Amino acid sequence: MEVTDLRQEMNRQLEERHLLDQVREYTDAYFDRVRDMRAVPSEADKKVLSVFDEAMPTGSQDAAETLALLQSAGENTISAQGGGRYFGFVNGGILPVSLAARWLADAWDQNAALSVMSPLTATLEHVCERWLVDLLGLPEGTAAGFVSGSSTATLCGLATARDALLLRQGWDVRERGLYGAPVIRVVLGEQAHSSVHKALSLIGMGKANVVIAPVDDQGRIDPDRLPELDGNTLLILQAGNVNGGAFDPFEPLCARARACNSWVHVDGAFGLWAAACKETKAFTRGMELADSWSTDAHKTLNAPYDNGVIFCRDRNALVQTMQASGSYLIYSEQRDGMLYTPEMSRRARSIELWAGLRYLGKFGVDALVAGLCENARYFGDLLRARGFRVLNDVVFNQLVVACDSSEETKATLEEIQLGGVCWCGGAVWRNEPVIRVSVCSWRTTKEDVEMSVAAFADARARAQKLK
Ligand SMILES: *Cc1c(COP(=O)(O)O)cnc(C)c1O
Repeated sequence: MEVTDLRQEMNRQLEERHLLDQVREYTDAYFDRVRDMRAVPSEADKKVLSVFDEAMPTGSQDAAETLALLQSAGENTISAQGGGRYFGFVNGGILPVSLAARWLADAWDQNAALSVMSPLTATLEHVCERWLVDLLGLPEGTAAGFVSGSSTATLCGLATARDALLLRQGWDVRERGLYGAPVIRVVLGEQAHSSVHKALSLIGMGKANVVIAPVDDQGRIDPDRLPELDGNTLLILQAGNVNGGAFDPFEPLCARARACNSWVHVDGAFGLWAAACKETKAFTRGMELADSWSTDAHKTLNAPYDNGVIFCRDRNALVQTMQASGSYLIYSEQRDGMLYTPEMSRRARSIELWAGLRYLGKFGVDALVAGLCENARYFGDLLRARGFRVLNDVVFNQLVVACDSSEETKATLEEIQLGGVCWCGGAVWRNEPVIRVSVCSWRTTKEDVEMSVAAFADARARAQKLK
């Protein structure tokens, strides 16, 4: 086919819309069956993935056939995250209104870099910033940058902290780099998320300058054993322990940091949303005294991927660190999204974020978070009744589960994963292998929890028989 023919064909695709109709049918079929799907594909299911192992075609392939191939090979090789029994990592679900808004935003193909590129996107970023700062109880005037996820948000927060702390000492990192710069003290909890370590390494802070703060049995930093802080310290706290979901005691920790003029960053990938729920709000008390916060909308809020936010109390500091210059850039009086993020071109994720927040309202966010917590507690109660050990205090959406012995835990987890009724990952908790359960989809029902606990018990019985 000639290039001009392709263009004609693509115009026809837009006029006739059969490709979008085709995908709409596939989506309907997916939502019809997702509740009955295996939580993750079996080994046998995954064999079909070999159809993708073809050389890149020389000529143009049929568009409808390409989508049909994707559907037929894809429908059993994805994780059923929309089904309510996927408890792996902290992956979240998807709000229908956010999905629909995203479809529209994708069709519009907007670039969120500059206001001049997409006034709508810039406006909705501004609205989401205002709404979220209020919803999460952050200081008035806090700036938000809309990024791909918490890893990037943390990177932004820590880079801003680094620049600000060094600038106080008269060292402009952006000008002079880190060679010969004063050393910044980094204090973080023993159970900080791996993305925090990654961010520290990316911004040139290194492992040797990190002081580990001891934690209690839930993984919370112990204020009585907090290492010394000073005006050159970056203290990194956690809202939502990566395994057990616990919250660092922000009030005493932030008060100390404030008194010492340290910079506090809070990794609240999924836990920051506790602040938007009456029942869990108390865990975040004092968190508003921090300087920067990172979170994901694609976890607890159930926005589609990828949707993360960096918040920074000092708007100017964030913009100073993220700002780029170029003669062709047109900064405006309105919000220019790229001033708050490392990326220039970005998709317009504020559109689906706005739609989800507007649909839920404060009441709906509260109910969403409370519902996850309630299901997590129910999960824990049923597991205990079946003789499993729940090792963490179930304060949020996370459970850390074990059987009678480490061997049995490992074998049971393997059987759970093979069974496919539900899916959970593993971790190590207080030197013991554990099953990690994250209840983070609005789709999860009491029945899903009951089915999953039954699957746990069956898996343990199979594991015992295998011994
Ligand atoms: C998921 C998670 C991250 C990383 O977030 P991404 O959106 O995957 O980049 C960081 N910290 C915690 C506590 C998390 O749960």
